[in-house]
Amino acid sequence: PFDVLIVGGGPAGAASAIYTARKGLRVGVAAERFGGQVLDTMGIENFISVPYTEGPKLAAQLEAHVKENDVDIMNLQRADKLIPATREGGLHEVVLANGASLKAKTVILSTGARWRQMGVPGEEEYRNKGVAYCPHCDGPLFKGKRVAVIGGGNSGVEAAIDLAGIVGHVTLIEYDSQLRADAVLQRKLGSLSNVKVITSALTTRVNGAEKVTGLTYKDRNSGDEHDIELEGIFVQIGLVPNTEWLQDAIALTPRGEIEIDARGQTSQPGIFAAGDATTVPYKQIVIAMGAGSTAALSAFDYLIRLPAE
Ligand code: FAD
Repeated sequence: PFDVLIVGGGPAGAASAIYTARKGLRVGVAAERFGGQVLDTMGIENFISVPYTEGPKLAAQLEAHVKENDVDIMNLQRADKLIPATREGGLHEVVLANGASLKAKTVILSTGARWRQMGVPGEEEYRNKGVAYCPHCDGPLFKGKRVAVIGGGNSGVEAAIDLAGIVGHVTLIEYDSQLRADAVLQRKLGSLSNVKVITSALTTRVNGAEKVTGLTYKDRNSGDEHDIELEGIFVQIGLVPNTEWLQDAIALTPRGEIEIDARGQTSQPGIFAAGDATTVPYKQIVIAMGAGSTAALSAFDYLIRLPAE
């Protein structure tokens, strides 16, 4: 068995692997796609101490750094089921989609999350060419330009307030007849002069040439279609944690985030979690790496307290 089995090979999992391997532990990483969301990212300008890098380059560096250490990387392996140990100090089991089963004294869950997409024509085509999902990451790329935010929940309204301070103009598009964000956020939004809110609107198409040039939405009351010219579209209709497979094994919030404490401990002794899959407040590369390191050190602390075999 492994001392530490890490499920997920994004920034959080990579950090967990390096920290635990450097303690001399027997470490395995099972990942559906080593690199995680970083593989889908173009420019990265907020990875502290690295003014500019690109996703595929950072993902390759993550893998190279993990491989500097004695870690068993099992790439292209999806975990389907977690069976926690029945007694404290017992072995946890992770069942893979290929039927194999891995056992470990501690498990670190770092399966990340995925942005919910609109699923309209042009969205995929113009991803990273005007279609964006992370205002903290890509907001500054649209300095002085016109953008839309899709979604009027808390994250959409927060994004619109954030972007209004950077870009030229923000159009917030909400499907429902009213915004769903907290009243305090809606009041703040209403005080901004360069924000326009359109409700009862369904985005039907992303328009572009080489990059995004606009979007088309349908007025849900009249049925009429309208075009808006703009340079950027921030889709804020939900970040979905990759935790469906954990539902019966550990405590998740109603939104599916793994509940962790400040040490990365989950509801099950010996099982830790880190990164976008968890309740950690902000979802960013540096934050996921920090959280992965925290979970790793917590797993080590747990292991040194287990009775000798
Ligand atoms: P992820 O990166 O999501 O990695 C999850 C890992 O788990 C992957 O290896 C995945 O294959 C694996 N996995 C999932 N389910 C299973 C399973 N059942 N079994 C096995 N493995 C599984 N952040 C920034 O700080 N700066 C940026 O500029 C930036 N830009 C971004 C741009 C885009 C387009 C996107 C999508 C995100 C961006 N982010 C950015 C956010 C950042 O990528 C994430 O916060 C970070 O990658 C989270 O790391 P993680 O390790 O928690 O999860």
